[in-house]
Amino acid sequence: MRIGIAGAGLVGRLLALQLARAGHAVEVFDPAPHAEARGAAGWTAAGMLCPVAELQCSDEHVFALGLRSLDLWPAIAGQLGLEMEFNRTGSLLLAHRGDEGVAARSVEFLTRKAPPGYEPQALTPAQLRELEPAVRGPAHAWLLPGEGRIHTVQGMQALAAAATAAGARWRWRTTVERLEPGALWLAGERQAFDWVFDARGAGARPELPVRGVRGEVFTLHAPGLKVQRPLRLLHPRYFVYMVPRAVDQIVVGASEIESEDRSPVSLRTTVELLTAAHSVLPELGEARVVASEANLRPALPDNLPLVDTQAGLTRINGLFRHGWLIAPAMVQDALAALP
Ligand SMILES: Cc1cc2nc3c(=O)[nH]c(=O)nc-3n(C[C@H](O)[C@H](O)[C@H](O)COP(=O)(O)OP(=O)(O)OC[C@H]3O[C@@H](n4cnc5c(N)ncnc54)[C@H](O)[C@@H]3O)c2cc1C
Repeated sequence: MRIGIAGAGLVGRLLALQLARAGHAVEVFDPAPHAEARGAAGWTAAGMLCPVAELQCSDEHVFALGLRSLDLWPAIAGQLGLEMEFNRTGSLLLAHRGDEGVAARSVEFLTRKAPPGYEPQALTPAQLRELEPAVRGPAHAWLLPGEGRIHTVQGMQALAAAATAAGARWRWRTTVERLEPGALWLAGERQAFDWVFDARGAGARPELPVRGVRGEVFTLHAPGLKVQRPLRLLHPRYFVYMVPRAVDQIVVGASEIESEDRSPVSLRTTVELLTAAHSVLPELGEARVVASEANLRPALPDNLPLVDTQAGLTRINGLFRHGWLIAPAMVQDALAALP
């Protein structure tokens, strides 16, 4: 088929790769100036792949998509033949002494919501030291086995490169004004395809009631600091996580603000996130802040993901704060619905 994809973010790149590899003629349209321009939320994401921890703000469908995607990522990475850091050694929930109340509530909530076998496992201080010796602030820890992380910048680069190698063509600096079954509208002109995909994330209004939810993250360079797993601090005021990534980097995130403001990171977020991160990993004191970014998570009114297929047109949206966690399974479902 001749396929048109609106949006070259995380979903657009995954679609382009899978469809081009299946032998379709794929064209991807995006207003970004080139493949490395960091407009898509996919670039900014910290890369936590945490289906249980995300149950805090998701449901059993997102959980199931997450588990399937965790199994799909290694196969996708194998197809890419390029370096894309991915691991699945679990993640940790952490709490400081004095925050036992909020920690107990969060852990109980996740234990109730997680299917049997996926509940958080309490760690003794000695077990925590063995798993993550650099974690020195928090007194309490729980392991979420099987959760993982992915290097999202490498992932965005590798997906585009592999899709290009498979024959996908990219139309940068091109805004899709609207989609209809079998057609994209570009600069007032209708361009016909056999099938079109809407993967515009927060840009899919007004056809979808999507909104952007602002998130801010920091990238720290911390040579010598050994952290293996995503760390999430259960704190009464802030939601803070730290995700290690090659080489010697830690991504600290993330605010969640009901605003479509893409301006630079605020002072309040800087103080909250970095103070909390330092309280977990004291060695971060000498880390260098190499980047701070703000971007918009695409969310539908129920904060749940959507794959909507009609003849000639598929819309994929609402990946919200767990796009990397669930995108491979969503794309698999979308492609399974093609004729
Ligand atoms: C701060 C932050 C931290 C995050 N952390 C994580 C995490 O740890 N784990 C996780 O799983 N997820 C995380 N996410 C969520 C994840 O990044 C998103 O869910 C995911 O990127 C959504 O993918 P998408 O392809 O729908 O949208 P995007 O990746 O935003 O891509 C949308 C693309 O559509 C293009 N576009 C927009 N309008 C148009 C138009 N009119 N025509 C053509 N193209 C258009 C845009 O330029 C963009 O390239 C995080 C997000 C943020 C912001």
